[in-house]
Amino acid sequence: MEEPRIVPIPPSSGMRLLAVHAHPDDESSKGAAMMAAYSAAGAQVIVATCTGGELGDILNAAVGELAHAHRDLAGVRRGEMAEAADILGVEHRWLGFVDSGLPEGDPLPALDPLCFALQPLESATAPLVKLIREFRPQVLISYDENGGYPHPDHIMSHKITVEAYKAAADPARYPELGEPWSVSKLYYDRAFNPERFRTLHYGMVESGIESPYAERVAEWEAKPDAEFFGWVSPHETTTQVACFEYFEHRDRALLAHRTQIDPTGFFFAVPSDVYARYWPWEDYSLIDSKVPTSLPEDDLFAGLR
Ligand SMILES: [Zn+2]
Repeated sequence: MEEPRIVPIPPSSGMRLLAVHAHPDDESSKGAAMMAAYSAAGAQVIVATCTGGELGDILNAAVGELAHAHRDLAGVRRGEMAEAADILGVEHRWLGFVDSGLPEGDPLPALDPLCFALQPLESATAPLVKLIREFRPQVLISYDENGGYPHPDHIMSHKITVEAYKAAADPARYPELGEPWSVSKLYYDRAFNPERFRTLHYGMVESGIESPYAERVAEWEAKPDAEFFGWVSPHETTTQVACFEYFEHRDRALLAHRTQIDPTGFFFAVPSDVYARYWPWEDYSLIDSKVPTSLPEDDLFAGLR
C-alpha cells in the first residue's frame, strides 16, 4: 500500500482557531488530536461548548454507580471538560445553553422549550459572535448541516456557527458585542466519514486484528444509500491534518470524560500502529475561505501564513 501523506504542522504562533461543539466530550471525539497538535505548534485554540451536557446518559458502567454523577451530572461534566482541555492544551469557554437531549421513541417526546435547539437563532448566536469578536480567530470549525450526528444540539451548533461566521464580520449585526471581526476560513468536521472507518477496518483485517467496524462497514457496503447513512457528511474532504503524534492526547482527553466514555468501547479499539499506517490524519471540509488556498490542503491555516 501507498505510504500515507504526512505533512508536519508548521510553527503556528499568531494563528488562532475556534472550534464550536455541542456538548462536553464532543471536542475530544472530533478534532482533538488536530487541536492538540496546533496548540503544541504555538497556535491559540479555544473550544466553545454550546451546552452543559446536562442530559447526557451515563455511558460508563464503572462510574454509573457514582451517586455524585447522578445527582449533579452537569457539575461532574464541568470538571471532566476542564481536565480534557488541559490535556489538549486548549482554552475552553461555555456558551451557556441547556442540553436539548436526544429525543427517542415513537412518537418522539417534545423538547424542553428552554433547550438550546429551540432558541431563536438571533439570541442563540449572540454569545458566539461576542467570543469571535474578542478572540479574533482566523479559522472557525463546526459540524455540517446534518450535525455529523443526528442530535438537535449538534444541528443547532452548526446553525449558530454558520450564522456567527457571517454576523461577526458585519458591523450592522450585534453592534453591542464588540468590533466586527471577519473569520478567514470556515470548516466542517469529518470525523465520522465512512472512508476513514472503511480504511481502518481493512487495515485491521490486513494486520490480523479483530475490527470493531466489521458490521458497520458490511452494512454500508451493502446499502450505501440506507437512511442510517443519510446523516453522513455530504461534503468532500478537502483538508487532512497529520496529527498522529497527538492521537494519544485525544485518547486521554476522551477518557477524562469518564461518565460519557466507555474505556472498553470502540473509540479505543484501533491500535496506534494501524492509525499510523492507514489514517494518520483528522479530516475537514473547507466550506468558505476569504483567503486564496489550493485544495487539497494539509493545514487549516493554509493561505494565512
Ligand atoms: Zn454531542
